[in-house]
This record gives sequence, C-alpha cells and structure tokens, in this order.
Amino acid sequence: MRAMQIQRRYDSVGYMLAVGVSTVPRTTMRWGRTPICGQPVLTVVERGGFYLPYGDLWMDARRAKDFAVVSHAHSDHTARHRSFLATPATIDCMRVRMGAAVASRGIALHYGEVYQHGPLRIQLFPAGHVLGSAMVRVEAPNGASLLYTGDFKMRASLSAEQIEIPQADTLVMESTFGRPECVFPSTAELQAQLSDFCHTALRANEVPVLLAYSLGKAQEVLKHLQPHNFPLMAHQTIRALNVVYQQHGCPMPDTRPLDFLNMAGTVVVMPPAVRKQLPQGPHRLAMISGWGLDARSRFRYQTDTVLPLSDHADYPDLLNFVDQVKPNLVYTVHGATAQLAAALRRYGIEAWSLNGADQLELDV
Ligand SMILES: [Zn+2]
Repeated sequence: MRAMQIQRRYDSVGYMLAVGVSTVPRTTMRWGRTPICGQPVLTVVERGGFYLPYGDLWMDARRAKDFAVVSHAHSDHTARHRSFLATPATIDCMRVRMGAAVASRGIALHYGEVYQHGPLRIQLFPAGHVLGSAMVRVEAPNGASLLYTGDFKMRASLSAEQIEIPQADTLVMESTFGRPECVFPSTAELQAQLSDFCHTALRANEVPVLLAYSLGKAQEVLKHLQPHNFPLMAHQTIRALNVVYQQHGCPMPDTRPLDFLNMAGTVVVMPPAVRKQLPQGPHRLAMISGWGLDARSRFRYQTDTVLPLSDHADYPDLLNFVDQVKPNLVYTVHGATAQLAAALRRYGIEAWSLNGADQLELDV
C-alpha cells in the first residue's frame, strides 16, 4: 500500500514530488527528488481511470465524471460522462454502443487540434488501435508535457488510423503485451493464417466462425477477408459499427445479417459473447486475439484455434514506441506493467508500474 501512496504526493500545483529513481540509493528513492532536469513533471494517478491533479483532468474514467477525455470507445475506457472530449469517430462509435443521449454530451476534437482545459493544453493523436482511437497529450503552461496512450498499435492497420507519435516528458503507456516473448507474426502471415482457416473449414463443409470483438477487431478481420470474396455474415453489433467506419472513410465489405439457420457456405464474424447462442452444427471456431501467441490459449478460449491478430502493440513495438516519445519518465499501465517497466529501466529509462507493483518488489 505504501507504493500506491507514492503516486499521490504532490506539491501545491500538483507537480509530482517524487517517485522511485534508479540512480539514487533506495532509501532516498521515495520523496523529495528534484524533478528531472529541473523541470516540474506532470503526474497522474490511477483511480478507476487516470486523473491529473494539476488541471483536474480525468482520462478514460470508468465512472461518470463531469468532464473526461475518452481515448476510444471500448467499454473499459468509457462511461456515461456529463461531458467528454473525444474524436468525432469515437463519439459516433459511442452513439452506436451507448446511445444518442451519451454521445450528445461529447465534444469533438480532431487529431492535432488544441483544446484548452483550465491550464492544460490538450491534443489528441491517432493511436492506431481502433477507428477514432487517440493518445492524449497534455501540456502545462510551463511546457511540462504528459502523453497518455490509451490502447495503441504501431503496425499499419486496415481499419484504424495510422499511429502518430508525439514526444512528451512523461509517458503513461499501456503494457498489455509487455513481455519479451510477445512478438506477433507479420501482418502478411496473419492474413494467410486467417484465410487458410476459412478455406480449410469451408472445404470440410464446416462454417468458419471468427470470434472478434465488435469494435475494431471485427472490422480488421473483415478487411483482411475482403480480398478473398468469401460470403460474409456478421452480427448486428458489428454491422452497426461498420456503418460508422464507412462514414469515417473506411469502406467495409458487404455482410449479411447473422442468421444461425443459414450459415452454410459463409464465413461468420461475431463477438465472443454471442457464441453461447451458436447452435450445434458443423462449424470451426477461431478466437481472434493477440493471446493466440500462447498455444495453450485455445484451451482457455475453448476454440479450435486462436489467431494472434491484435490491435495492441507487441513487445518490440512497445520499446520502439518509447524510443520515439523520448520521455524522461514512463509509467506502465495494464498487463505486464512491472515486466515492461523493469525492461525499460535496464535500457536506462526511468520507468515504473503506475500501480506501484514494482516498487513494492523493491521494498526490503
Ligand atoms: Zn481498446
């Protein structure tokens, strides 16, 4: 618990007083460190989302706030805020998923535009994760900057904007696949695996059923399948979001509404949650998930295979990303936080898990 408190010490304007730093003795790591290069450092706390005390700003709060920035429309990054800032595409995805009333409270901010929130200058940059996904860069009047990534992907996607990477002093980054063994196959290889799976099932008179989350993953799968001209069937939640993709300049292949009684000869794309409605029949199941890197994952998902097509960065890309942001200080959030932070420290970059897990490990 002491480590959790470390993240919550601020001076009068909310600048961080101290976090652990690998270049000073452990006994003096906790408090009173002179900010890097003499510059105050914007800081953030994890509290059901991410909160900047300086400027009173919530990002990806999971409970409704008066005002928050929403990085993208996945449900673990959104809530029914009274007012929120997001890209136009994210607001449109939220309209489909959460209703018109919630979406009407969205303030649209295009990538690169500036929104002033109290003393903070806010800009959104493409995160490459799903349509409309954004990284949030905030800058204080003294020039101190912080970049919060939300979920991001470095590789070119067929259905999301290509990532654009700004520089910042402090980086708060996701570390979902932050272990060295997490290296995804090439996009061409994944595309071949996906089409082979579908062709093989169809040749065996089985229906290939691809389990993919309705926002982002499903559209990426459909774009990968498009050149093969399979007859495609998709669940209504996917088809509703396909319309938003089309409206935002990402043309999607035609799909028929999912019809459990008439799936023969088609490739079916549906969210994993719908699976329990799938009737008995000759079908072959593939979960679409980066966790397919682990051959045992098919037992966890109870599918015939797991294809490791991900909308997150893999380990080499996480390192590459940090290299491009050039931060003085990194906080890792989600997934392998302690492992990635430790790896970054070995590369000479001050990095800690935002939830303090690694600082607890350092306690003697
Ligand atoms: Zn996401």
